[in-house]
Amino acid sequence: MIYDIIVIGGGPAGMTAAIKAKETAPSASVKLIDKNKKLGKKLYATGNGKCNIANTKLDLSCYSSANEFFPFQFVTTDSHNDVMDFFESLGVSSYDDNGYIYPASLQASTIVWALTDRLKILGIENSTSEEVLSIKQGKDGTYIVDTDKGGYRTTQVILAPGGAAAPKLGGSDRVYRLLDDLNVRFVKPHPALCKLKCHEYISDMSGVRAKAVVRLMCDGEEYDHERGEVQFASGYLSGIAVFNMSIQCIDLMETGKKPYIELELVPDISDDMLADRMRRFAEVNGRRRVEAMLNGIVNEKIAGYIIKSLGIKASEAAGLDAADITSICDMLKHMRFNIDGFGSYEDSQAASGGVDTLQLRADNLELAGHRGLYAAGEYVDVTGKCGGYNIMWAVISGMRAGESAGKRIKDDQN
Ligand SMILES: Cc1cc2nc3c(=O)[nH]c(=O)nc-3n(C[C@H](O)[C@H](O)[C@H](O)COP(=O)(O)OP(=O)(O)OC[C@H]3O[C@@H](n4cnc5c(N)ncnc54)[C@H](O)[C@@H]3O)c2cc1C
Repeated sequence: MIYDIIVIGGGPAGMTAAIKAKETAPSASVKLIDKNKKLGKKLYATGNGKCNIANTKLDLSCYSSANEFFPFQFVTTDSHNDVMDFFESLGVSSYDDNGYIYPASLQASTIVWALTDRLKILGIENSTSEEVLSIKQGKDGTYIVDTDKGGYRTTQVILAPGGAAAPKLGGSDRVYRLLDDLNVRFVKPHPALCKLKCHEYISDMSGVRAKAVVRLMCDGEEYDHERGEVQFASGYLSGIAVFNMSIQCIDLMETGKKPYIELELVPDISDDMLADRMRRFAEVNGRRRVEAMLNGIVNEKIAGYIIKSLGIKASEAAGLDAADITSICDMLKHMRFNIDGFGSYEDSQAASGGVDTLQLRADNLELAGHRGLYAAGEYVDVTGKCGGYNIMWAVISGMRAGESAGKRIKDDQN
């Protein structure tokens, strides 16, 4: 048998693509293959079990790609509505938490069940615990999909196997070898949305969370900034704002640069007001410990770190001189951490890189020179920030590839 469409990967991109293909061409034979035992395994873990499916806010900083503007040919300021409408058509209402869109149940399982039930109702054949090993193209233009259980022929393939991140949930770096026979180019992948390793000794602050403006800096230039929560762990910085800087930070490291993260721990107090506050404290509470002076503003472990790293000798506030106060204020405003490493795929929420978008058609994600071969989701070199952007991309790109593959079958039938 020659299938009309084979979809590789049962994540949000692959399941959406299979559904849209079959809805567009109801008589088409569509098969979905996933190496996990169950479809949508990663989805259960998303958004802390709540599955953040989209976001109403969109600007250029929300997606990274070597081909900077490519994602915005698909994702627009209306895309969250398309994602919500799609899930509404599957019977799932949405909940908008200040722009972050979740299923109204706040349960990721709602999304998985809605997708898997629809696949079943549409009669889409799926095969789980089956890993695709390679894809080749025959002389007649059809594709040969080799798996660890055998092989299939098909006229079209939608590739949505995700990336290397989160291997326990289905991620694998083998996905980047699937197209070796077809000479498809990949942008080199690396962990993304992950913690960053810093050179400084920060173990004494382990477990502390602080609200700050987080800046990604390199050679004195600011590359990105975001206000949010930073978490200190032994040797690492993490938290959403740090995760969001990680893509660009690792890109800089890969080009031999030395990026650093700068924290502004008291963004709402000006430099002058901060120095005034310190001086007043020293006048009124001069006999109190220097740590106490800082602990009025930041966590006590951060206060201890500042005093230790600046080598402050005075134990009481009254003993601080003007230079001490200036350097303390400077550190509260520009606490610098030199980044010399990053988390592994095991603890990353995504992998950056993937299929080089310069080879993809900007209307349907079809690979140039390979009629009927599409890529979608995280497999493509498009990585979103935290906040629902990756699932939104997976669903939107899956829709587009699925609809296009379905339409091709319909057109060929007529
Ligand atoms: C802990 C965690 C939390 C996250 N939270 C969010 C969130 O709240 N919002 C958000 O937008 N994003 C979130 N993400 C990112 C998001 O989950 C992914 O970007 C998204 O799932 C990608 O969808 P996909 O369909 O492209 O790939 P995946 O979801 O990775 O699915 C790919 C599927 O392909 C299968 N596969 C791989 N290789 C093969 C092969 N050779 N043969 C057959 N099958 C194969 C895998 O088993 C997998 O099921 C989170 C990620 C993690 C790890």
